[in-house]
Amino acid sequence: MYQVACPSCGAQVSFRSAASVMAVCSYCQSTLLRDADSVRDIGKMSAVLEDYSPIQINTSGMFEGKRFGVVGRIQLEYADGYWNEWYALFDDGAACWLSDASGKYTLTVESATKPQEVPLFERIQPGGRLAFDGVGYIAADVRTARCTGGQGELPFKVGEGWEAKVADYRNGQRFVTLDYSDGATPVIYVGKAVTLETLACQLLRDETQIQQSAGKLRGSTANLECPNCGASIAYRPGVAQHLVCQTCHAEVAARAGQVEVLAKNEELDQRTTTLALGDIAKIGGAAWTLIGLMECRETGEESSTWVEYLLYNPQKGFQWIVESMEGWDLVTVQDEWPEAAGSGQLRLSGQVFNKLYDYGAEVVWAAGAFNWRVHIGDRTSIADYKQGNMTLTAERTASELNWSLAKRVAARDVLGWFGKAAQAAALPKQSAAALASTGDTGSQLRKVAWIFTAIIVVLNLPILFMQGFDGIEIPAFGLVALWFPIFKFADSSSGDDD
Ligand SMILES: [Zn+2]
Ligand SMILES: [Zn+2]
Repeated sequence: MYQVACPSCGAQVSFRSAASVMAVCSYCQSTLLRDADSVRDIGKMSAVLEDYSPIQINTSGMFEGKRFGVVGRIQLEYADGYWNEWYALFDDGAACWLSDASGKYTLTVESATKPQEVPLFERIQPGGRLAFDGVGYIAADVRTARCTGGQGELPFKVGEGWEAKVADYRNGQRFVTLDYSDGATPVIYVGKAVTLETLACQLLRDETQIQQSAGKLRGSTANLECPNCGASIAYRPGVAQHLVCQTCHAEVAARAGQVEVLAKNEELDQRTTTLALGDIAKIGGAAWTLIGLMECRETGEESSTWVEYLLYNPQKGFQWIVESMEGWDLVTVQDEWPEAAGSGQLRLSGQVFNKLYDYGAEVVWAAGAFNWRVHIGDRTSIADYKQGNMTLTAERTASELNWSLAKRVAARDVLGWFGKAAQAAALPKQSAAALASTGDTGSQLRKVAWIFTAIIVVLNLPILFMQGFDGIEIPAFGLVALWFPIFKFADSSSGDDD
């Protein structure tokens, strides 16, 4: 440990690693460049934005049996969002980077070995291949980002306007970053997708500490005035700050108390969707709030449309629900990527998915808050793979490739989660067998049967008065036909009421 008095304010600044070339004074934000045994003040560093990350300087954890401690961070901003790179040191002095992008984490260390062939940064496209260390990787994202703030101790000189050029590759949970920030020959980082639990992190900030520093809980609801039309927009500080105004459809970024209009979409009309912004779903005991929704359209001649709803839970993060002509799907973005399993086949968690089709999609309408910049008119290339009631989907843009897993769910269940029982009851009639197999439908069937019984009796009473009991067998037969299946199904479905 090397300690020095900040030349600007006199506070003590420490360098825990001999490899650290700069440190940011935590009191006055002066950037101190280490030079032999002295430090030079090279000007102020922008303070990091309060982003509600649970990680902080001194957070520790275990990675592949080795303990590490966080000593610094930089914040990087690119066209569609921003992320943190936490700089950490293992006990043996080796360094690693813990990347934190709205709750998704990867941990990487610099690799001594290099791939035999590295692509030019300008040539890398999402979906491109990289052979490294006997493993085939696929390019996940390609980004040019700008450093917007720094904190603590760092291994290289960064300052305002410092530009990072990085390409990330994935295979299963494995992760490789090619970092072209210093020139055409990239520095290689190797690691994997992690969670704070698998890292057994300690000294994380808890909700109270985050609230104290931010003035708000991470993911709590905040409101701002749309800078374009003045309507109130709800957003989630720290997790979903890219907004599309529900009233005028302006695309708005809200960060660190600053609000900026990114694009206007005033010609869009209002839509009514099955689920609405602010709706709350109870799924498996957890409450999820619907914070964003967008309508997408298949590009080309086919013009099917679907609605994607973004749900948020402060503990569990994000979850998508998609409503299409075919039904409803619960969709989760994959941290673990599928692997090739033969021609037109992929394997994920031991299951084989078969290629279904490729198509293009376009965002035609959006409203609410998102964890990245949603842009009306955004186009993506989509490939679907099927296995039973699950669909594995690759979604590719010019700068990113994402995998998500969709599981088919019953409309009745989705509407039930959102407490929209009336809408569930108005769903198109299903067969008696299907109704009998779902919950309390026995009593609903009985209600319907009583209504029809009353109708039959009312219609047949005059006949009864005029003709006596002659001809009674026809309405009587009708009643038997009406009630018989209900008694039968009520028996078989008793006990599965919820
Ligand atoms: Zn200072
Ligand atoms: Zn507006």
